Amino acid sequence: MHTELLKSIVVVGGGTAGWMTAAALATALKGRYAIRVVESDEIGIVGVGEATIPMIQIFNKIVGINEAEFIKATQGTFKLGIEFVNWGRLGDRYMHGFGRIGQDLWTVRFEQYWLKMRSLGRAKPLEEYCVTRMASKANRFLPPQANVPNSPLNDIAYAYHFDASLYARFLRGFAEARGVVRTEGKIVQVSQREGDGHVDAVVLASGERVEGDLFIDCSGFRGLLIEQTLQTGYEDWTHWLPCDRALAVPCESAPVLTPYTRSTAHRAGWQWRIPLQHRTGNGHVYCSRFVSDDEAAATLLSNLDGKPLADPRPIRFTTGMRKRGWNKNVVAIGLASGFLEPLESTSIHLIQSSIQRLIDYFPDRGFNPVDIAEYNRQSRFEYERIRDFIILHYTLNQREDSEFWRACAHMSLPESLTHKIELYKAHGRMVRVDNELFTEFSWLQVFEGQNLVPEGYHPLVDLQPEESIGEYLESVRNVIIKCVDVMPDHQAFIDKHCKATPPVAKPAMA
Ligand code: FAD
Repeated sequence: MHTELLKSIVVVGGGTAGWMTAAALATALKGRYAIRVVESDEIGIVGVGEATIPMIQIFNKIVGINEAEFIKATQGTFKLGIEFVNWGRLGDRYMHGFGRIGQDLWTVRFEQYWLKMRSLGRAKPLEEYCVTRMASKANRFLPPQANVPNSPLNDIAYAYHFDASLYARFLRGFAEARGVVRTEGKIVQVSQREGDGHVDAVVLASGERVEGDLFIDCSGFRGLLIEQTLQTGYEDWTHWLPCDRALAVPCESAPVLTPYTRSTAHRAGWQWRIPLQHRTGNGHVYCSRFVSDDEAAATLLSNLDGKPLADPRPIRFTTGMRKRGWNKNVVAIGLASGFLEPLESTSIHLIQSSIQRLIDYFPDRGFNPVDIAEYNRQSRFEYERIRDFIILHYTLNQREDSEFWRACAHMSLPESLTHKIELYKAHGRMVRVDNELFTEFSWLQVFEGQNLVPEGYHPLVDLQPEESIGEYLESVRNVIIKCVDVMPDHQAFIDKHCKATPPVAKPAMA
């Protein structure tokens, strides 16, 4: 039995995907492989991608990133969930909070008891049983407290908002300190080996030839190696996720630093609001079939916290995924592997899970097709399940005010999603298949937040007397109120633990 090791890895692209990959591989491979990142300042990075989900903490821990240093370096803030405005009906407002809802006690899940009591008019709104939702409402934040093991205070799920360009810079410093070599230059040619067509080198405008055994394509939407060279193919999901453009603009901060992302649905798309320490990030994701670029820009600019700090920057995309994320000796990570709109902040997570998967199926010189096929199977499963969750937000709307929303409410759905909706509609039941990303708590909050009321509840709920269920719900709610009471204000927490230096203002133009 023997393994012939690879020697060198070339990461093409130095955006979030490129530097996350380089930093993680430099740590995991313990300096045994030469890792080189090729990036072009002339081309630049997409520069958006500022909201994350809690799994990013695992990435940071594995790579060895110190939380306070990372927050300071990226003007970061904390995130407890996403507030959705106008998604069910105009005027609706709900939050998808991270972590759990309620507390299990008897035979069936918490929400089943809540559904029954709500149908009797004897339950409080769902948010009152969720610590991250109530903390968000009060603009409070505290990381999990290990000294109170059985309390919701020990179970606070959170993520971060940060400045995407500063994050790429932070990771670069981190990767270079672990031996990663950066090469500045524009790739103008890709060389393939005769016979099997593996990529063996990229050639820069300077004429320099960068050779490698394994190439990670982090070149963004263009997919320089995976698509332009290997022509792997792209599966277009526009019929389910029709938004195809975005305009991004930073603006001055609001007086209160909220610990959550906000997503406000507009006439033919939605707007993100991401509060950072030094500014607020905003963007309007929209469908160009239903709204003009000018109207989209006007809508964005009329819904900002403060003065815009730049002109809106246009970005075009096609939702979908590469048919195979790993083809020959090229693994596409980040935007080169596919794109799901940032409604649930999942793209950076997809980078992280691709890196983990690459480490799990790390190749030797043989590039065994079985490993590659398994990598691709898992990637597809992950993409499709996240896609379904995002489509859910669109399909579950009752808005009658625009053609876009009516079309979304009546579109045909992937079977996997129809099944989940039918299951919930019948008895409020939910199923999480394998290790798909979003848990029952996430699905519940969107079903409920967008007004899908199940026809019944789990029959075993009736085994408990209503009085006991009422007391049980009330005790869970009271514990949450007490927990939120002791949490500090989000801004005060940051000021005490991880306040960033204000950025140096650029000199005014002469
Ligand atoms: P890029 O940032 O585009 O980097 C590509 C790199 O390849 C650059 O360094 C470039 O110089 C290099 N390159 C390309 N061609 C060449 C060449 N010929 N020669 C040399 N170098 C080359 N994700 C989230 O998780 N949360 C969010 O809130 C979020 N919001 C988003 C909003 C929008 C509108 C969009 C479009 C994306 C959003 N994302 C979000 C996704 C996130 O921005 C990306 O996943 C992330 O930035 C990774 O990008 P990337 O590194 O793959 O590509």
